[in-house]
Amino acid sequence: MPDLALLALIMVAMLAGYLLGRAEKKKKKEHFPEQPLSKEYFVGLNYLLNEQTDEAIETFIKALDLNNDTVDTYLALGSLFCRRGEVDKSIRVHQDLLARPSLTPLQSIRVQLELAKDYMTAGLFDRAEAMLVDLSRQNHEYRVDALQQLLRIYEREKEWPQAVEITESLRKLCGEDYAPRLAHLYCEIAEDKLRLNDRSGARKYIRAAYSRDKNCVRASLILGRMEMEEGRDRDAIKALQKVSYQDNRYVPLTLDMLETVCHRSDQQRALGSYLAKCLNEKPGTAIILAMTAQLMNSRGEVSAMDFLTGQLRRQPSLRGLNALMNIQLNYPSEPSLTSIKLLKEVTDQMLVSKPVYQCFSCGFAGKEMHWHCPGCHEWGTLAPVQGVEGE
Ligand SMILES: [Zn+2]
Repeated sequence: MPDLALLALIMVAMLAGYLLGRAEKKKKKEHFPEQPLSKEYFVGLNYLLNEQTDEAIETFIKALDLNNDTVDTYLALGSLFCRRGEVDKSIRVHQDLLARPSLTPLQSIRVQLELAKDYMTAGLFDRAEAMLVDLSRQNHEYRVDALQQLLRIYEREKEWPQAVEITESLRKLCGEDYAPRLAHLYCEIAEDKLRLNDRSGARKYIRAAYSRDKNCVRASLILGRMEMEEGRDRDAIKALQKVSYQDNRYVPLTLDMLETVCHRSDQQRALGSYLAKCLNEKPGTAIILAMTAQLMNSRGEVSAMDFLTGQLRRQPSLRGLNALMNIQLNYPSEPSLTSIKLLKEVTDQMLVSKPVYQCFSCGFAGKEMHWHCPGCHEWGTLAPVQGVEGE
């Protein structure tokens, strides 16, 4: 039983804490009579041996004598409950600890931080927020922890302006690690502004995103779409092509918009050479397919098929194969139609079930692009899936 093993560990820690505490008192030459291990310790041990874990814990909590070592034991006990999904018990441990008058101010801050985590786990965000706002305004060595937890709440609740405020403080305290995250938060605000049709507000926040992270792909995508919608094709192309040197893994996300804009402003040739440059720098199926579509328009299906076949030999992919069969079906020149149809059916099915985007931090995968991973809540960790079945 893993729970019992963990509890046994806690017990050993308590015993160690107790013995250390005793040794400490001896060292200080304070006069204390030799104390045997408390009665509760053995009562608790007995419960534990009988697998009555709840009673065992209850007894140990009562037996704990408060000093530096036992505060750690309490905190370990609390996080053990939290991991087992018993948040109510964790809350009780931490509240009980907070009620002790002998707690030092710094110990009290540590316990409050843990209690705030409990409240978050229990979904009591308002309570957690109130505690953390208070803790983050004081000056102490756990201020960064408090700010980080508060940030998690605001991100989860999609309260972007508050999240920005906290992240700006963290950036000042911890440095530029927070810059890409800030850029994402500014992008979230820009998207909110766009939904309210406040386009100048959106532009202001896109500029803020770039000011924090000049390689913010997302800002370029939002800006590109805005310019496209507002009919400024040259600016749209400029913003979208920026992605190729910001982070070329995300070029596939720009291609639909680029095709639309280049088509309507008669810049197909410029698009062709841009795609060739991208293919050279980072070969990928989306780029190959965009180039194939271009060749279809400008030189016809034979050139397009030749190009695609050549690329597929170098870089086989399901989507490429699928596109090739599509062309062959639309322009049949061979008698082997039946087998091609069959192959196409199979690949169609496979493509429907395949995730398109994947988080490289936690592996979360899906068909929709998320900038804020639903799995691990990291920012900017999802990207188009690579390999034979992806890009
Ligand atoms: Zn993730």
